[in-house]
Amino acid sequence: MSKEYETVIGLEVHVELATKTKIFCGCSTAFGAEPNAHTCPVCTGMPGSLPVLNKQVVEYAMAVGLATNCDITRHCKFDRKNYFYPDNPQNYQISQLYLPICRNGYVEIETGKLSENQKNALKGKNGSEITENTEVKRKKVGIHEIHMEEDAGKLVHDDWGEVSLVDYNRSGVPLIEIVSEPDMRSAEEVIAYLEKLRMIIQYLGASDCKLQEGSMRADVNLSVRAVGSTEFGTRTEMKNLNSFTSITHAIEGERNRQIDILESGGKVIQETRRWDDTKFESYAMRSKEDAQDYRYFPDPDLLPVDIADEWIEKVKAAQPEFREAKIERYKQEYQIPDYDIELITSSKRMADIFEEASGICGQPKKVSNWLMVETMRLLKEKSMDPDQIRFSPANLAKLIELVDSKVINNSTAKEVFEVMFDNDTDPAKYVEEHGMKQENDEGAVKAICEKVIAENPQSVADYKGGKDKAIGFLVGQVMKAAKGKADPGTANKILKELLS
Ligand SMILES: [Zn+2]
Repeated sequence: MSKEYETVIGLEVHVELATKTKIFCGCSTAFGAEPNAHTCPVCTGMPGSLPVLNKQVVEYAMAVGLATNCDITRHCKFDRKNYFYPDNPQNYQISQLYLPICRNGYVEIETGKLSENQKNALKGKNGSEITENTEVKRKKVGIHEIHMEEDAGKLVHDDWGEVSLVDYNRSGVPLIEIVSEPDMRSAEEVIAYLEKLRMIIQYLGASDCKLQEGSMRADVNLSVRAVGSTEFGTRTEMKNLNSFTSITHAIEGERNRQIDILESGGKVIQETRRWDDTKFESYAMRSKEDAQDYRYFPDPDLLPVDIADEWIEKVKAAQPEFREAKIERYKQEYQIPDYDIELITSSKRMADIFEEASGICGQPKKVSNWLMVETMRLLKEKSMDPDQIRFSPANLAKLIELVDSKVINNSTAKEVFEVMFDNDTDPAKYVEEHGMKQENDEGAVKAICEKVIAENPQSVADYKGGKDKAIGFLVGQVMKAAKGKADPGTANKILKELLS
């Protein structure tokens, strides 16, 4: 009889911080420049150059640490991690081993109630739907530490396998590495944990946390053990997984591989493996190094960072209202369904737009509808994140007021919204300039209705014969004749009057 196994997972998450300049020099961190445009003697490891710590990096790291219930290390230091690789010009990476800035934290995750990301990622290989479990489970995932470090450059290999080029623009971009305890037991918990971290960091503005673009990267440490056992099995590490789907697949694949080995009497080897999401299997990259292999030692070029209580208090005072608190406040302040609140608060940008637009027009439910329906539709169509929304809350409020005061009808409003979505156009001006105002003169609408009735005897007969649906067709014809500028409600009312 085969044993039951439990999966034990810990995560190392690298997050690129949203500072304007690099961690130890004044070079820009902007993405997309010509190769090696953002470099200087420090971030290309020239002899005699000296690093100077970017204060903003320390503040972001502290902010993330405080938001994840960590202790802040009052006296922390930087260490050199020594290894050779062409994308690492100093032959060492400046990191923190002995005294990382944050320790002993946790985040609370929720599973059972699946988010869109969880649903997509947990879909089976063959696209089979997972069954929804409605019971919400809460769990704390421990954070062992958060440390600050610098990113490496990037190697670019040519197509012929002859030349490799190096781009040091990314060399020295600040990172924090968030190391969890081995507290997770399933892919669902891993995704819930990553989503929670991402939400906190995005609310803080410390990073955009995009897995696909590499501003958030996850290494998965996984082992299996017999259910009931208290000892950990030998773990393997899978590096740089860049989507929730590949993380889920890698966990499933690695769990099965390790169980197969144990079942056939073998031993799992501690190693780093690369997951190939197209082949659905992993392969060994190298045996896993231990810290001692890197010959860590305190960086003699950098002073220890002494963090005073006042500094911590200052960072604490600047923390934003996080999602959980926002959800509670929205429930008190706005008369909108919980479903709306969940969706709106899933992005700080959307929540900000919601609050400001509702404040201006006083119609939270209508603001929420525009965000949940048209905004979400266009974001999806254009493969954009809520963070990239360009229209201002003021213009959204203005659009809602235009519909309320019957200057335009709903379908015109949707047309105007599409333009506003792209360019933050002033909707009132746009309506004026493009002659889109609704015909509110009942006499004019009546004249059109009479014409439509005369031209559609069959539909008129259908309606009179009891087919109520025929009125819909006639309203459509009126709207068409009015070039969309009539109020469908008014047209409906007049038609009914004329036909009764
Ligand atoms: Zn530089």
